[in-house]
Amino acid sequence: MRDTIIFTLLVAVFLSALPFLCGGGANAEGAGAQCAPLQRETEAAAETDGAGAQCAPLRRETEAAAETDGAGAQCAPLRRETEAAAETDGAGAQCAPLRRETEAAAETDEEGRADVGIGPYGAAEADGAGAQCAPLQHETEAGFDAGFRLPVLRDGQIRSMDLHSYLTGVVLAEMPLSFADEALKAQATASRTYVLRSYDNRRHDKAAVCVNSGCCQAWRDPAEASPEDRARAEAIVSATDGLALYYDGALIDATFFSCSGGRTEAAAAVWGSELPYLQSVDSPGEEGAAHFTDETRVPLAEFRTALEAEDGAVSFPAALGGWVGAIRYTEGGGVDEIELGGRPFRGTWLRKRFGLRSTAFSLELTETEAIFVTKGNGHRVGMSQYGAEAMAQTGSSFEEILAWYYQGAELKPAE
Ligand SMILES: [Zn+2]
Repeated sequence: MRDTIIFTLLVAVFLSALPFLCGGGANAEGAGAQCAPLQRETEAAAETDGAGAQCAPLRRETEAAAETDGAGAQCAPLRRETEAAAETDGAGAQCAPLRRETEAAAETDEEGRADVGIGPYGAAEADGAGAQCAPLQHETEAGFDAGFRLPVLRDGQIRSMDLHSYLTGVVLAEMPLSFADEALKAQATASRTYVLRSYDNRRHDKAAVCVNSGCCQAWRDPAEASPEDRARAEAIVSATDGLALYYDGALIDATFFSCSGGRTEAAAAVWGSELPYLQSVDSPGEEGAAHFTDETRVPLAEFRTALEAEDGAVSFPAALGGWVGAIRYTEGGGVDEIELGGRPFRGTWLRKRFGLRSTAFSLELTETEAIFVTKGNGHRVGMSQYGAEAMAQTGSSFEEILAWYYQGAELKPAE
């Protein structure tokens, strides 16, 4: 009996010491939170979760709510976003991914329902107290993707959808479903990484992404796909549930494009900023791509006028042979800089100005036209979609595909 009392006391002392063992988080984190990374976003809220939350992904949207985390949170990724808030995490939860997003006290998705499939709908009260959650695992029963609410800009409105549905729509739109599973899985993972990063950066103010392929990522409403296609895309997304790419602890800029023409570009060659994981790599086997090579013809007068408008110092001699001077290429085979009319022009500028499929072009001038013959399709930085398919066809796994195109990036469960 006495031993029992002593033991009980010891346990009580240990529990009361937990907050200190946890190292006391930044940001008014409540006692006991052991869970890194913690991020918040709110507009004006005092938040607190109930005690002993039972671990499933929990996500909320509110605008001015009073929330409180329970006591003893020992759990893995806990994430919040706030702007001006007094927040407190409680103690006691020992569970996995907890994620919130506040903006409107009542939680609703686009159909007006409370968040679906992600554990407790309600606030703190719904969380049980003192739950001893099972081993911390990234993937909960509902899955990381299913529990992650994503504000998506679509048809001019911000719609809340879960990451699983969003990525299913991206897979349906970004790659032909005739591609191999491993290529599609690489796409799903790159796209998840992309959108999680956009979520953090708020590319569209209150929305994480839009559905415009020219801006963010292509997306097709899964409800509009055939049941077979939808099931396949969903299975692909599920097979990579929660996985994302990191470098130095941060989500990478997982850019991708259609086809490189044989070799990708380093980020620095196209956007000017050096990124260790976005380097130029070989990308063989893309010959079957729709625009592996292409041609863009520009009337010569228009070509000349455009260059003169861009740089008043250009000077075109009578003979066409004197119009094109030195060309400098990038490591990825693109035109870095080309001398036209005695002045230097960037390959990226020419691509944009004349709507070329890529910067990897040759230029031929005739009496009537400037003819660009391009190789590849897109900015050619990051993962080549046709290259990924070629790798998958020759037996590479999606992990190997991602490791090839995003060199040095680490694939792991999202935090
Ligand atoms: Zn966008």
